[in-house]
Amino acid sequence: MRIVVDLALCQDHGQCVFSAPQVFSLDENGKLSFRDGATDTYISADLDESLRDDVEEAADACPLQAIEVEG
Ligand code: SF4
Repeated sequence: MRIVVDLALCQDHGQCVFSAPQVFSLDENGKLSFRDGATDTYISADLDESLRDDVEEAADACPLQAIEVEG
């Protein structure tokens, strides 16, 4: 399982951080930390299955529908 985040859609409100803090975080500037070194799309490494419920909740919670869970 991995996540794909559309950083062009994301507006850094951080709902995903509350749902899945092991995966999502905001940096010191209040921006989604995945923005560092990423282009418009962030693709994660393979995530442990134990995180699936949390990342699916994050995808549901994202008001911009910027998060996709693949696999
Ligand atoms: S919930 Fe969605 S819009 Fe908000 S920071 Fe997370 S990915 Fe971005």
